[in-house]
Amino acid sequence: MMDAATQPIPYGRQDIDAEDIAAVEAVLRSDWLTQGPAIEQFESAVADYVGAKFACAVNSATSALHLACRALGLGPGDRLWTVPNTFVASANAGIYCGAAVDFVDIDTRTYNLSVTALAEKLIEAEKSGTLPKIVMPVHFGGLSCDMRSIGDLAKRYGFRVIEDASHAIGGEYGGRKIGSCDYSDIVVFSFHPVKIVTSAEGGMFVTNDPVLQEAAITLRSHGVTRDPMRMDRPADGAWYYQQIDLGYNYRITDIQAALGASQMRRIDAFIGRRRFLADRYDTALKGLPLGLPPREDGANSAWHLYAIQLDEARSGKSRKQIFDALRATGILVNVHYIPVHLQPYYARFGFKAGDYPATEAYYQRAISLPIYAGLSDSAQDRVIAELRAALA
Ligand SMILES: *Cc1c(COP(=O)(O)O)cnc(C)c1O
Repeated sequence: MMDAATQPIPYGRQDIDAEDIAAVEAVLRSDWLTQGPAIEQFESAVADYVGAKFACAVNSATSALHLACRALGLGPGDRLWTVPNTFVASANAGIYCGAAVDFVDIDTRTYNLSVTALAEKLIEAEKSGTLPKIVMPVHFGGLSCDMRSIGDLAKRYGFRVIEDASHAIGGEYGGRKIGSCDYSDIVVFSFHPVKIVTSAEGGMFVTNDPVLQEAAITLRSHGVTRDPMRMDRPADGAWYYQQIDLGYNYRITDIQAALGASQMRRIDAFIGRRRFLADRYDTALKGLPLGLPPREDGANSAWHLYAIQLDEARSGKSRKQIFDALRATGILVNVHYIPVHLQPYYARFGFKAGDYPATEAYYQRAISLPIYAGLSDSAQDRVIAELRAALA
């Protein structure tokens, strides 16, 4: 066994307790492994917690983002705008629908979608008749974007808003939980094990609009309905269903949903611990040649990430040197994100280096330090000490 002083420390990790295990075991002993009661329990747990009317659980946030685009009618000839400082899944959702994807650069202080850049791009797009159908802000690291301003622009220019809140369940904005859909049509959460709450794999689509919810439920399972009201002729019998749209198999299992529902009991403890660790990093790292994560009035981050910006000019060390030095000591730091527009797949659409300078500059200096509910004070102290040593 490795002792605590040398054991690798990941950048993120799930926190599973005996009740989570018992919840999964109960499903395995039950009649339903999928399409059973655990799904609705998970959906209600999330909808109630975030203050949304409806929730549709699926097998990943990627699937939920795709369903969100489909529910809003995104298709060929339409445009979806998101940020390049995100995981590729945000942008890919638009491509899946045959839409054109474009990007809006980030704010140099919050690392979230720049409302100024968005407003300028909208003015140009209006002139050239190329307004987006959907804008997808991403709450980077768990800190909400400026949703009030984005919502105002949505009203003025007539686009729809999907919040990619994969990092942000438990975060707050304007005194309300992220997911309340106050300034958006749909909010999407991820339950991958590195995120805040896990269902192993899983995602959630939440909305206050019953029409969007119905679309998501239908598309989640092949575009098939058993509702006679939605059929084009009377049912042949009790067995009858109709396929009324081209859907997918994006269903989550009851095994996963039971884990997710069980995890939701502890979400406030998870967020509390992450906040505590973020505050502790802030205090310990003050004065080092680093940019610390932003904080915003009226917003509370869910602290999925604690992403620092290295100041190479002041430290005399490159990001790669610091990254490699930390990895060598078992501190498994990571980098979020390689700008999506610089991925080879996106080069085919004409994107190139220099297109989004704030995102590219951010990427060059970014390192994500370990943060997760199960990170002990002493393990965090080791991260801090190794970072200090690497910078020295
Ligand atoms: C994790 C993540 C996703 C994808 O989540 P999955 O549940 O793994 O599909 C999408 N967007 C962002 C910003 C993410 O961090």
